[in-house]
Amino acid sequence: MTLFFPSHSRPGPPVTSTVVAMTTSASVGPEGAIGTDVTVTDRLVDANEQYAAAFTDPGMDARPVLQVAVVACMDARLDLHAALGLELGDCHTIRNAGGVVTDDVIRSLTISQRALGTRSVVLIHHTGCGLESLTEDFRHELEMEVGQRPAWAVEAFRDVEQDVRQSMQRVRTSPFLVHTDDVRGFVFDVKTGLLREIDPT
Ligand SMILES: [Zn+2]
Repeated sequence: MTLFFPSHSRPGPPVTSTVVAMTTSASVGPEGAIGTDVTVTDRLVDANEQYAAAFTDPGMDARPVLQVAVVACMDARLDLHAALGLELGDCHTIRNAGGVVTDDVIRSLTISQRALGTRSVVLIHHTGCGLESLTEDFRHELEMEVGQRPAWAVEAFRDVEQDVRQSMQRVRTSPFLVHTDDVRGFVFDVKTGLLREIDPT
C-alpha cells in the first residue's frame, strides 16, 4: 500500500500505478541485506523460531487482563504496547487503516465485550496518517482500474480530531456493545510519541 507511505520514507522500485501499487518482489532489498532469495516472510519465520525457542507458556486466559480494547491505525510507527505500557495479555488490539470504527471493528468490539469481558475502549488515531491524503475518489479510481467498485468506504478524513470524535460517537451509539461509558479517543504524535486526548464534544 504505497499510498500509506510518504515517498521519502521507503526507497524502492518506482511506483507505476496511482491507485494500487502492488509490491512486485517480496525479496528483502539492499536495506534488508540478507540476500536476494530470502523474502521478508522468511525473515519473520526465522525470527519466530527464535521467539518460540525462548517462549514459555504464560498460562494466560484469553480474556484481556486490563479489560480494555484498543482500536488504532495500522501505521508502522505506532508501537501500541510500548506507547501505552501494555504487557502481553493486557488488551485487545484492533487495527486497520486509520483506526476507523467500521462495521468490522464493531464486530470485534462486540465479541471483545460480550465474549471476552472487556469494558473500556481506547481509540487512537495519529499525526501524519495516510488517510489524510486520500479522498473518496480513491474508490472511483479503483473502479476505473479494476472494473469493480469496492463495497467499503475509504473513510478518508481531513481533520484528525473530528475523525476521532466520529469514531467515539460510533462506538458510543452502537446497539451491539454493552459497555459504552468508558470510551476515550486520542491522537498519537508520531514525532513526540505523546498521546493527546480529544474532547468528545
Ligand atoms: Zn494512520
